[in-house]
This record gives sequence, C-alpha cells and structure tokens, in this order.
Amino acid sequence: MLGRVPTYRIRTYGCQLNESDSEKMAGLFERMGLSEDPGDSPDVLLMNTCAIRENAEDRLFGNLGVWKALKAEHPNMLIIVCGCMTKIPEDLNRIKKSFSHVDVVFGPQDIHRLPELLYERVSREVKIMQVSDRDYLPDDDDLPAVRCRKFRALVPIMYGCNNFCTYCVVPYTRGRERSREFDRIIDQLRELSEKGFEEVMLLGQNVNSYGKDAPDKPDFPDLIETVSKMNLFSRIRFMTSHPKDLSDRLIDIIAQNPSIERHLHLPFQSGSNDVLKRMNRGYTRERYLEIALRYRALVPDGTLSTDIIVGFPGETEKDFQDTLDLMEQVQFDAAFTFIYSARPGTAAASFSDSVPEEVVSDRFSRLLALQNAHSLASNQSVIGNSEEVLIEGLSHTNESVFTGRTSSNRLINFTIPDGTVLGADPLPLGGGTGAAIEGKRAIIRLLKAKTFSIEGQLEYFIDGR
Ligand code: SF4
Repeated sequence: MLGRVPTYRIRTYGCQLNESDSEKMAGLFERMGLSEDPGDSPDVLLMNTCAIRENAEDRLFGNLGVWKALKAEHPNMLIIVCGCMTKIPEDLNRIKKSFSHVDVVFGPQDIHRLPELLYERVSREVKIMQVSDRDYLPDDDDLPAVRCRKFRALVPIMYGCNNFCTYCVVPYTRGRERSREFDRIIDQLRELSEKGFEEVMLLGQNVNSYGKDAPDKPDFPDLIETVSKMNLFSRIRFMTSHPKDLSDRLIDIIAQNPSIERHLHLPFQSGSNDVLKRMNRGYTRERYLEIALRYRALVPDGTLSTDIIVGFPGETEKDFQDTLDLMEQVQFDAAFTFIYSARPGTAAASFSDSVPEEVVSDRFSRLLALQNAHSLASNQSVIGNSEEVLIEGLSHTNESVFTGRTSSNRLINFTIPDGTVLGADPLPLGGGTGAAIEGKRAIIRLLKAKTFSIEGQLEYFIDGR
C-alpha cells in the first residue's frame, strides 16, 4: 500500500494523433485513481512513442537509458512503452533484449487495454508485452480523456492510412483507414462545445479521405461544413490534408465559412514528379500547384504550410531545383523540413540509390535559407494589422509575455499594457495572468516580425463567440 494517491506521467512524441492518444491514456489513469505528476519520479512513467523519423527512435532509446537509472533509485516505479514504435519488429526486439527495466509494452491499437495490462503487471508481477497485430484500431471514441489544453479539443475523425507512401511506416503501425461515425463525432463536438472549448482540431492521417470507407455517408467537406454551421466553436482546425484527396469543394467551403481556420497544412514533400512517383504520393507538382494557387486566390487571408523531405533516394540536383522552384511559386508561410531517413519495413528502405550525406546536408541548408526568407516575408506582410488571437498562456521564456495563435496559425507573442481589465475585473498579477487568460480571445496589434513568430501588444479582449 502506498498510503497516498499514486501518480503517473506521460511523455508524448510525434504527431497530434499521438497527443490525442495520450489524452485518452491520461483519462484512463485518472479513472484508475492516479493523479498526474510532472516531476521525475512518478509511480508510473509512460512513453508514447513515434516511429515516423529515426530521431524519435534515438530519443526513446536515450530516454530508456536514463529511466534505467531512475528505476534503480525507485524500484517500484512502473515503466510503460506504447505507441507506433512498438509495431516495428526491430524496435520491439531491442526493447525486449536491452531494456529489461521496461514493465509493460503495448501497441497503438491496445490503448483501451491499459487498465487491464497494468493490473496484470501489478497482480502477477510479470512483464507484459501485448502489441496487437490486428489491422484496425478499436473504436475507442468513448474513452475518457484529460485534455492537455483547456482551449483546444483534439478530436480524431478517422484512424489509419491506406496510402503507403514508400517512406512512411504509418500504414504498418496504425493500420487501414477507418472513419468514425458522423453522428458520434457531432455528438462529441456538441459536448466539447458545452464544456467551453473555443477551438477544435479534427484529426486524421489524411482527413480528406474521411468517409471513403462508406461512400454513401458524409465526406470531409460535409463534416467540416456541418460543424461550422452549428456554430459550436470560434475556430475549427484540421490536420493533416493529402493533396491527392483534397477537393476543390473543400476549398470553397473554407472560403465561405470564416470559423474554419485560415490555414491549410498541405505536405508536398518534393517538387519533382519523378520523386513524387517514387514516393507513391499519387499527385503531380502541377496538381499541387493548382490546389495551392486556388487556395491562395479563394482564401486571400489564409496561410499555407507544408512538409518537405530532402535527400529521398535518387533525388538529383534537378529534382531538388524543382522543389525550390515549387517553393518559390507557392511562397509557403511555414514549412516543416526533414532530411530523409529510411524507416524499417517501408518500400523506400530497400531503394539502393541513397544521396551522399554531404550533398543532402548542402541541399538542406539551401532549402532552409529559402524557407526562412519566405516565412519572415510572410510575417512581415501582416505587421501593422490588428488580428484576433486565441490565447494559449504564458510564454515559456518570458514571464511578462503571453502567447497565442491567429486563425492563420501565426504564433503571436504579446505584452499586456498595465491597467488592462478582463471583463469587469482587473487582471490578476504575475503568473496568475497566464492561467486567467488561457483560452480567451483578444485583438492584438502586430508590431514586429520574426521568422517563426510575431511580437505584438494586446488591444482588447473579445467577449462571446
Ligand atoms: S499519407 Fe503517406 S505520409 Fe501520410 S500517413 Fe499515410 S502513408 Fe504516411
């Protein structure tokens, strides 16, 4: 018997879908009577892993080494590893062989079994390795969730992916596409709105293929239009879009419904048709440009961000120039840029024509310089405007600066003039202000552009939706 409430801590890596899974596992821990401990020695330490890139793998194994020492100091601590990496046979074997201090391992399809697996570990004092090899995810929509942000609710609308891009492990780790029931999503969104969430993020590996597994049912444009018309949230976000499946109709709906974010994240990965073909992306650079330019024309206040991979096997200088050219044409407002790393079990891992490291590194620097220039120019273009910002809290680096995002997903760091009131009351002083204004909306005057953020000053808070 512990004689106190046992505690848990979750470390999450990777995408927002992983974050959403972690929120569900936090909900299960709390239902089991545990409470969250942000410190270094909780009773249960869980790592929710990501397998998309090699560096996430390196981080897991590095952390497992650190946790070994931690467990030596606290022998009763339970260490759990779950998430996509557990579905990679090489990684699973390495955990089994080299990290005997890990108590429980389970896969992304087994989240709903967390209480049972934990009970088994504690009651039978055996190590648990339960990575389900089913090809689908359980319908875990109803699991309780502890939301990590009080202003934004993460809501998966579908699971898995059917696309088999040749560099990606997701179809192997998360299984085939499965859309959630339209009515259940709407009911859940109503509840979240009643609880006061200002923003919702609709999630899927490829939200644009929502409903394709039930062709007579609503598709993604239907879903997002319905949610917008219900006026449940001041802001509706969605992630991630695939250019192959993004329809013109979706762009029309975004243009006509201002509560849908003025931001589109649309990974293009490479500007070369040859590389896109070897990546099995299912679109051409011409089609990508058509979508991007249509979005720019119909949503003039919208921003476009993307993902780009440099150094895919066989990428020539000409292919790379095509990537730079596409960037010049679209002028992305932001981009996540990656150096290609082979993932075990994917088709591209067997491609033999890898690009020499020094060539990749040179291309990566050139790409980064171009994108940074575009990002800065984009932020400079809105200086002098007053824009609505959803406040996320206190800045991590400066206690007198607050942070939030515009509907176009620009990161705004702002100050609040002395004597500002919130509603009828003066703002609490110091750190209390961050908590008091988290999730509020405000008009911020944009004053100074940086590459990844904008500095501003609060003009006033907005009441109501
Ligand atoms: S669309 Fe491609 S990159 Fe995205 S999750 Fe599916 S396979 Fe991976």
